[in-house]
Amino acid sequence: MRLADYTTLRLGGPARDFVRASTDEDLIAAVRAADASGEPVLILGGGSNLVVADAGFDGTVIQVATRGVSRGGEPGVVTVAAGEDWDAVVARAIAEGLAGLECLSGIPGLAGATPIQNVGAYGQEVSQTVTRVRAYDRMAGEIVTIPGERCGFGYRTSVFKRDQTRRLVVLGVTFRLAVQPAAAPVRYPELAAALGVAVGDQVASTEARSAVLELRRRKGMVIDPADPDTRSVGSFFVNPVLDGAAMAALETAARARCGAGTRVPRFDAGDGLVKVPAAWLIERAGFSRGYSLGDGARISSKHTLALVNSGSASTAGLIALARQIRDGVGEVFGVSLAPEPVLVGVTL
Ligand SMILES: Cc1cc2nc3c(=O)[nH]c(=O)nc-3n(C[C@H](O)[C@H](O)[C@H](O)COP(=O)(O)OP(=O)(O)OC[C@H]3O[C@@H](n4cnc5c(N)ncnc54)[C@H](O)[C@@H]3O)c2cc1C
Repeated sequence: MRLADYTTLRLGGPARDFVRASTDEDLIAAVRAADASGEPVLILGGGSNLVVADAGFDGTVIQVATRGVSRGGEPGVVTVAAGEDWDAVVARAIAEGLAGLECLSGIPGLAGATPIQNVGAYGQEVSQTVTRVRAYDRMAGEIVTIPGERCGFGYRTSVFKRDQTRRLVVLGVTFRLAVQPAAAPVRYPELAAALGVAVGDQVASTEARSAVLELRRRKGMVIDPADPDTRSVGSFFVNPVLDGAAMAALETAARARCGAGTRVPRFDAGDGLVKVPAAWLIERAGFSRGYSLGDGARISSKHTLALVNSGSASTAGLIALARQIRDGVGEVFGVSLAPEPVLVGVTL
C-alpha cells in the first residue's frame, strides 16, 4: 500500500499495515490493537498536510472514514464525524443558512483534521467556531470531550498538533455557527477587494464562498488533478511571527538586501507581535515561482509558499528544496522558517 496514493503531494512510500475505519468503534479498536502491540500509528485523513518519507511508514496507518453530520441542541450547532470531507461540510452549512465557515471553502482534507492545525484562510479559523472536540485518548484508553477553549488553538496549531505523542484521535467536531444567510463580516482585505466591498462589510455566504474558491483556484489552492500546481500540502511554511526586536533586525536586513526604502509587509498578530508573509521573504531571498533543484520538486508557478510535486519528485527531493529555501531565508534575513505540514519519517 503506497502512501503516495493517499497524499495530495502524491509522495510517500509503503505502509507496513493499512486499516480503513468507517465507524468510531472500528477506529478505536484499530488504534487500541496497534497500541497494545507497540506498533507506531499514523492517523490518516485526506493526506493534505502530510509529507511522508520515501521509505514509507513502518507501522499501522489508520485511515479515518467515519461519516455523519448532525444538528442538535441549540440552533446553529453542528456536529461532524472526523471522516467527513471538509469542503462538503462547508458547502452544506452554507446551504442550510449557517455562517462562520464560508471563508474556509476549498480547503482539502477531512473535518477531523481541522482542529489539528486550526485551519484558517481569508480571516477565518476553525477556532472561532469549534465548541468541542470528541476524541479517543490513547493514554487513558477512553473517549474524552475537549471544550473549544481547552484546545489550545493558536496560529496553525493546537494541543493536538503540539503533542508529539499524538495521544488524541479526533472522532468528531462540534461547531457553533451563526443562523443567517449572510457571511460573517469580511476580515481579509484581498477577499474584500475581490468582492468589491470594504473590510467589515457582509455579503451572502454563497458569494463569499464563490469569491474564496476563485481566489484559491488562481493560487493553485483548490485540488485539481489536472493542475500539478495543486499537488502540494498548501503552504509549506508558516508565516513567521516576530516580536519587536526580531522585526527591527529583519527590517535592517531587508534594507540591506532590497534597498533603503524597503518596508517589510506585516500583520498584527496581537500581544505586540507581528506576522510576516513567508512568501515575501522567500521571493526576496532569491527563490521565485517555478524554482527547482531539477528533480521534479519545485515551487508552485502560482504561489511561492507551495512546494509541489510536478510528477517525478521524491520526498527526499522535496525536503532538499525546502531546506535550501529555509537556509536561504535564514542567511539573508536571519528569520527561521518552520514547516506547516506534519513530517512523517523525515526532518527538515
Ligand atoms: C492545495 C491545498 C491547500 C491548502 N490550504 C489550506 C488553507 O488554506 N488553510 C489551512 O489551514 N490548511 C490548508 N491546507 C492544509 C490541509 O488541507 C489542512 O491542514 C487539512 O486540515 C488537513 O486535513 P487532512 O484530513 O488532509 O489531514 P492529514 O493530512 O491526513 O493529516 C494531517 C495531520 O493530522 C492528523 N490527523 C488527521 N486526522 C486526524 C484525526 N481524526 N485525529 C487525530 N489526528 C488526525 C494526521 O495524523 C496528521 O498528523 C491546504 C492543503 C492543500 C493540499
